[in-house]
Amino acid sequence: MQIGPTCRFCNAPLTHTLVDLGMSPLCESFLKADELNQMEPFYPLKVYVCSECFLAQLEEYVKPEDIFTEYAYFSSYSDSWLQHAKNYTELMIERFKLGKQHRVIELASNDGYLLQYFVERGIPALGIEPAKNVAKVAVEKGIPTITEFFGVSLARKMADEGTKADLLLGNNVLAQVPDLNDFVAGMKISLKPQGVITIEFPHLMRLMEGNQFDTIYHEHFSYFSFIAVEKIFAHHGLTLFDVEELPTHGGSIRIYGRHGEDKAKPVTERAKELKEREIRAGYNRMEIYSTFSEKVKETKRKILDILIDERRKGKTIVGYGAPGKGNTLLNYCGIRNDFLDYTVDRSPYKHGRFTPGTHIEIFPPDRIAKDRPDYLFILPWNLKDEIIKQMSFIRDWGGKFIVPIPEPMIL
Ligand SMILES: [Zn+2]
Repeated sequence: MQIGPTCRFCNAPLTHTLVDLGMSPLCESFLKADELNQMEPFYPLKVYVCSECFLAQLEEYVKPEDIFTEYAYFSSYSDSWLQHAKNYTELMIERFKLGKQHRVIELASNDGYLLQYFVERGIPALGIEPAKNVAKVAVEKGIPTITEFFGVSLARKMADEGTKADLLLGNNVLAQVPDLNDFVAGMKISLKPQGVITIEFPHLMRLMEGNQFDTIYHEHFSYFSFIAVEKIFAHHGLTLFDVEELPTHGGSIRIYGRHGEDKAKPVTERAKELKEREIRAGYNRMEIYSTFSEKVKETKRKILDILIDERRKGKTIVGYGAPGKGNTLLNYCGIRNDFLDYTVDRSPYKHGRFTPGTHIEIFPPDRIAKDRPDYLFILPWNLKDEIIKQMSFIRDWGGKFIVPIPEPMIL
C-alpha cells in the first residue's frame, strides 16, 4: 500500500502540487575540491499545497539534524541584513518598552547578528541555535546561546528553570521547522503571560506574485500565507494581533503574536487588512495555486534566453553571491560552467568551495576587478541594490548586471 504525504499542520492528504522543481541537492552543501568526484544526494524539490489549510509545503526529505548542525550561512555577512536587525531591535525596545528587567529569546539566533543589539542596550538576551559552528561565534561575542533544536521539550526544560520570554522572536526559522505543531506549541510555553512573539518569514503571496521559485529549497519545509499561519497559531492558543509587510527576502511578513488570553493587545487594522487582501486575491481557494507552475517554467526559459544570447556573442559572465537560493536557481535552470565561469561571495567559509550539484567554484569578490567580466549574474537578487552599488566599478569597463528574478533583466 502506498501512503502519500500528509499536511504537517492539519494532517490532510497532500494531493495538489504547487510547483515541481525536479531533483536538487541540499542548497547549503557546498563542496570542497576533493569532493567533486563523489556522488551527491539529490532530493525532489516538489511543493504541495494543502487543500484544507492552504499551507504550502515540502515533504521532509532530509532530517534537520543533517542540515542545520553545521550551517554555512552566517547572517553577519550582509550589511543590509544587519541594518534590518538593528532597526528591528530599536522598534521593539521602543514599542514594548523593553529594559533590563526583561528577557529577549531568539529562536535560530545564528551568529548573534541580532541579539548583539539588545545586549548593547543592556537587555538580557538568550539565543537558541542548533548549528554548533554558528552558535560558537555568538558565544564568543558574549551572547549566551543554547545549541539545541527548539520545541516543546526544550521550552518545558527552560520554563522549569524560570526561563521565559518577554519578547520571543524568530527570523526565517518557521519555514525551516519540520514539526511545526511542536515548535509553535513550544513558543506558547516559552512566552510570559504578557509577552510578545514576532516571527518573520517570506510571504507566500509575494513568492507567488514575484516568481520567487528560488526561495524554495529543502531547508524550507513550509511557505506561509497570513491566513495559514494565523490558523496554525490559533490552534496553539496564540493570537496574531499585528503584522508588518517587509521588503526582506523578496517580501516577508513579520507577525506579532500573543497569548489568546492577553486581551490588552487588540488586533490591529493592518492585520485585518492583510487577511482581507489575501482572501480577495484567492489564497483561501485552490484555483490560484494552480497557475504558479507555468509562470516558473517561463521564468526559467527567459533566464536561459539571456545567458545563451550573451554567451553566443562571446561575452563573459560570472556569478555574484552563492546563497542557498542561488543553488535552487542554478540546479533548476541547469546553469553550470557552460554559462558562469565562477561565482564570488563575501563569506570566507565558501571560498575555494563549489556550488552543490552545479560545481561552480566560489572566489572572494576581489577576483572581479582582476578578470573584468562583461556580466555579473546576481544570485541574491533580493540584495541587488546593495550589490549593484558595491560593484558599480564594473561599469568602468562596460560591465553590466543580470538580475534573474522576478523578471530576468540586464541592468
Ligand atoms: Zn493542512
